[in-house]
Amino acid sequence: MKSSAELFKEAREFIPGGVNSPVRACLSVGCDPLFVASAKGGHITSVDGQELVDFVESWGPMLLGHAHPEVTRALLEAVPLGTSYGAPCPAEVELARQVVEAFPAMDMVRMVNSGTEATMSALRLARAVTGRDKVVKFIGCYHGHADAFLASAGSGVATLSIPGTPGVPEATVQDTLLVQYNDLRGVEDLFKLYSDDIAAVIVEPAAGNMGLIPPKQGFLEGLRKLCTAHGSLLIFDEVITGFRAAYGGMQTRCGIEPDLTTMGKIIGGGLPVGAYGGKAEYMRRIAPSGDVYQAGTLSGNPLAMAAGLATLKVLRASDYAALEARVERFAKDLEAVFAEKGVPVVIHRLASMFTIFFTDQTELSNFEDVRRCDAAAYGAFFRKMRANGVFLAPSAFETGMVSFAHTEDDFARTLEAVRKSL
Ligand SMILES: *Cc1c(COP(=O)(O)O)cnc(C)c1O
Repeated sequence: MKSSAELFKEAREFIPGGVNSPVRACLSVGCDPLFVASAKGGHITSVDGQELVDFVESWGPMLLGHAHPEVTRALLEAVPLGTSYGAPCPAEVELARQVVEAFPAMDMVRMVNSGTEATMSALRLARAVTGRDKVVKFIGCYHGHADAFLASAGSGVATLSIPGTPGVPEATVQDTLLVQYNDLRGVEDLFKLYSDDIAAVIVEPAAGNMGLIPPKQGFLEGLRKLCTAHGSLLIFDEVITGFRAAYGGMQTRCGIEPDLTTMGKIIGGGLPVGAYGGKAEYMRRIAPSGDVYQAGTLSGNPLAMAAGLATLKVLRASDYAALEARVERFAKDLEAVFAEKGVPVVIHRLASMFTIFFTDQTELSNFEDVRRCDAAAYGAFFRKMRANGVFLAPSAFETGMVSFAHTEDDFARTLEAVRKSL
């Protein structure tokens, strides 16, 4: 087999940056990517023959671990029946039913092919339902790469949105209002300024794309109240937290009902899937029952549905509380190792997610805080951890994903690697 170095050299000739999604290139942690030959449970094996404990888990989908036998079996059974029809199939109905049953705030759901499509479509629906254009987005939250969400700004509350990338016209993001995560006062101010123009507030109910930043007490409740008071829709982007924060997502865990929910990652069991859903009165606006157009050649793909169904079936029988307790203990053990080595970190943890922030701050609650962390120190740590057999997220501002397949031995190996890497 070609080595990672050989493959990366070849890949850069034919694929921009050598990767099909930017963070994989490991640029921000100062090294080249490992190419994966295979993955099983909580481990990946590189083409170079190195086996690593994997806390990326495909950025979240593999809550059961890689190549779970039941998911593999469901796929092997589905493949001979054809891989795409462009006509409805039974598995779509069953997965939709199970998703709706799991999420109290959801009466109907539409399957798409990625989280990006899910959030883009949910925003279109919110704009159609309200007849308004503006959307409130939190700085540091990621909602996929649709134009409207690719806005960033230098200040906490920006009335002028600036595109975060070339290729996005200013006109496309001028309706995207930005505010810091956990800043309820800032959202109130936006509603004062634009009260009748805000179609939706979109939020990761636990932020996972600036490292893990949980919502402060009262933050999500406050958003719910503001949206209700102003006739705006509250969109929970549960692409990461859906079926991970709890089986019924972060909304079940915190008891708050959004108007629309977006999902992805886990519901495809590792195949490309996204979904958006919500109250029937809104979802009925989607074509062909309504006038809001949204479509997809491969949407509801039979293989993706089979993998999703098999995943949810195993998840329903899985002990989330036990996994959370194990991750809590693991995080405490990590903290102890860092303390013992005198390296200041803050470790955030929620359900089966964690982030190690290299910082001497004591509290982090938004992107401003996150940006003050020592990304260079994380990069050096990442490289040593990888050499010592542990694959962490290749960016200081991502979330570590633990799966049901990770063993106590994996945790012990990780702690040992941390000791060697500091
Ligand atoms: C990953 C992610 C997306 C985008 O999903 P893709 O499948 O990568 O398009 C959207 N929102 C959140 C919260 C995500 O973590």
